[in-house]
Amino acid sequence: MTNPKIENKGKSVNHQFDYFRASLEAERCLSCYDPPCRKSCPASIPIPDFIRSIRSGNIQYAAKLIREANPLAAVCGTVCPEEIFCQNRCTRKSIDEPIKIRELHSYATQFEVEYSMIEYPVESRIAIIGSGPAGLTCAIKLAEKGLGAVIFEQSDQPGGVPASSIPQFRLSDDVINSDLDYAKGLGVEFKLSAKIDNPQVLLNDYNAVFIATGLPQGRTVNIPGENLPEVMTALSFLEEARLGKCEFLKSKKVIIIGGGNVSLDVAAAAANEGASEVHLVYRRGPIEMKVWKSELEEAQNRGVIIDFLTSPVEYKAESGKLSSVTCIRTQLTEKLDSSGRRIPETIPGTEFSIPADLAITAIGLTSDYMKEIKVNSDLSTSVAGIFAGGDWARGEGTIVESVRDGKLAADSITTYVKDKQR
Ligand code: SF4
Repeated sequence: MTNPKIENKGKSVNHQFDYFRASLEAERCLSCYDPPCRKSCPASIPIPDFIRSIRSGNIQYAAKLIREANPLAAVCGTVCPEEIFCQNRCTRKSIDEPIKIRELHSYATQFEVEYSMIEYPVESRIAIIGSGPAGLTCAIKLAEKGLGAVIFEQSDQPGGVPASSIPQFRLSDDVINSDLDYAKGLGVEFKLSAKIDNPQVLLNDYNAVFIATGLPQGRTVNIPGENLPEVMTALSFLEEARLGKCEFLKSKKVIIIGGGNVSLDVAAAAANEGASEVHLVYRRGPIEMKVWKSELEEAQNRGVIIDFLTSPVEYKAESGKLSSVTCIRTQLTEKLDSSGRRIPETIPGTEFSIPADLAITAIGLTSDYMKEIKVNSDLSTSVAGIFAGGDWARGEGTIVESVRDGKLAADSITTYVKDKQR
């Protein structure tokens, strides 16, 4: 097995299988009846089937099965949080350890056969706003059904958050381009630097519109000093880091506020860029942290200091520049929030200061774009012909959940367009 189509330089690089190791891992699969792994893959990849193909040596067929179910096969094979999806439900977990499903997925995807431009007769044209995982998946699935998909992307490069904000050391351009090339090969059209203010206007020229803009704004903590130039959001920082514009971090002290996977991406990227000290400040404890264990360990291995049960109070400046962040210790109360986690409260008199040259808030994303539209369970909306999905409609989630939304939207749009043509 030589000549892999994708040179995978992403997260799996440390564990990447060769044919021998992939075959041994595939042999461990129990081929369960009613497999729980498949049910817990948001993209519904037929996991036991593709593992069986690897086991029998037909890697290209395994890649085909994966791509058919998940149009973002390369990206998800590299950065999908398997710990909370497929691998978490693997039956082998109760015997020894779960099958390394994501790594087998990633391994097989490398051997995908070259695809060529497919000319489908295009009778309808669908406008998609946003080229991130939901929009791209929807476009690919529509194109496969013979519906012309045109993606309007506000930025000058396609791919959404994975392409703009996931650090290169986790997700390389090669992996992202592999999925984009697949879309282009199916005839999906991209209109870049195209901001759409009113999706309904597109209904004049297109049979339906899918809004998949994601959540383009980072939330802020709203404490004194927030307007200092050395205080930025995770999204802005990760975009700069991905473009290689973070040399200024060398020997600088960085403090990150947040407790999710994005905060760990930021921490790992800052450490990678040569920051002398990286603190991650989180107002709850390790149990409440909603992160993937492997990424938490990775951040700690890179020397990131995690300050649990700590909350920021004020950004302090000297000579107009950020010099430290005043923090306060917290404790967890018995009250639960909507996510079922205990709500923290501050402990008076426990303020202390952490020196910092740069502060980055990684406490989630938001959007104020067209919030008055109501989204139904099939991703149609209160406006006929307009569909919406991905993080914008559902709230922050994972890439593979946006893939699921993109597939559902493509089915709903196809039904809508065909019904209208009857
Ligand atoms: S897409 Fe994610 S959940 Fe689905 S098989 Fe691949 S790694 Fe597992």
